[in-house]
Amino acid sequence: MTSQRPIQSLTVTELQQAHEDLIHQYKALQAKNLSFDLTRGKPAPEQLDLANAMLTLPGQETYRDQAGVDTRNYGGLTGLRELREMFAELLNVDVELLIAAGNSSLEIMHDLIAYSLLYGTADSPRPWSKEEKISFLAPVPGYDRHFAICESFGINLIPVPMNADGPDLNTVKKLVADDATIKGIWCVPTYSNPTGVTITEEIARELVAMPTAADDFRIIWDNAYAVHTLVEHAPKALDILSYAHEAGHPNRPFVVASTSKITFAGAGVAFFASSQANQAWYQKHLSKKSIGPDKINQLRHVLFFKDAQGVLTHMEKHRDILKPKFDALLAILDERLGGAEVAQWTQPEGGYFVSLDVVPGTAKRTVELAKAAGIALTGAGSAFPYKNDPNDTNIRLAPSFPSLQEVKEAMDGVATCVLLAAVEHQLVK
Ligand code: PLP
Repeated sequence: MTSQRPIQSLTVTELQQAHEDLIHQYKALQAKNLSFDLTRGKPAPEQLDLANAMLTLPGQETYRDQAGVDTRNYGGLTGLRELREMFAELLNVDVELLIAAGNSSLEIMHDLIAYSLLYGTADSPRPWSKEEKISFLAPVPGYDRHFAICESFGINLIPVPMNADGPDLNTVKKLVADDATIKGIWCVPTYSNPTGVTITEEIARELVAMPTAADDFRIIWDNAYAVHTLVEHAPKALDILSYAHEAGHPNRPFVVASTSKITFAGAGVAFFASSQANQAWYQKHLSKKSIGPDKINQLRHVLFFKDAQGVLTHMEKHRDILKPKFDALLAILDERLGGAEVAQWTQPEGGYFVSLDVVPGTAKRTVELAKAAGIALTGAGSAFPYKNDPNDTNIRLAPSFPSLQEVKEAMDGVATCVLLAAVEHQLVK
């Protein structure tokens, strides 16, 4: 369809003509036998190549950290001091409240919830598992793996709308004030997955200050994309731990991050920052499952980056690879869908995703059409608890992994699928 008129304004005859044109385009798309994967926010091989020098670090002679500790041996639960200092600066947290851990922040988040269920948090009257019901707030659209942790433990997820400046405060405040089963909220403060939203300081301060019926309410502050900017300067990470301290709720935020999308997605370093009481609580339980993290990998990161500026300079190289893919994706959406009023999408300044809202009731059909044309998209509804997008409208696009040319071809195909699904839907109205 080349028409740039809103499909709602087309007559039945025009719609039928548009449908015929689109079926023609769709058959041509299928005939290309494409095999593209836009499902997950994985770094592309060229991004991983940027850190290849790490594969030969630290080298046979270099295995001691700055304090002279032999990184090859057991111990050092809190991680290498010099790496903690580097990331304390980037994450805007006090180094004394930050530890460097294993290779995955998701694992830390899983442990935080598991420990809370098994033992209760530092402020809990009893283990969460002993409560009749536990709930978490899920800003939507959000990160499916956050929701999957809660789902796997039987924690009830309550969707709350995500606005341009963060989770919808009116809804959040009302819910947490009255409902003591609500023990926490998931937040991705910088370039959120998948909306690209960066939470403002004002919202962050409200989140740590708001009255909650549960005394042991927690904010999982997952700063996975703190330095992953597509524009020249990333916003400075919010000093959420200080805000919480000032608001009288020092134990409320659990801050996590990792280098998964800075160095290697399978061999990065994850971080956990929280109040002194929370660190004591976390490390007490952690010490039962680990004698210490992979300090050699931590040393490798220290030697590779040298300092916080080294990380930011490295991220500029990621931006050079990612930005053209995002630009191409957005240009194709604009060109193919701009006038037809069949979709809205985000214009992220960082992170790994574009969030696409198609005509309500057509997201599943769009993903199905794309799949049958060899273009794998994240499942419709994935960004919602229980994979239930009540309006069947949201699709998460992840352009990082395919090549630039593949992104262009795939997105042109996706646009055809969005239009075809929209016209089909309009025809049966
Ligand atoms: N948090 C968010 C918001 C993510 O998007 C991702 C990966 O896509 C992760 C965490 C995974 O982090 P890690 O690799 O440190 O486990």
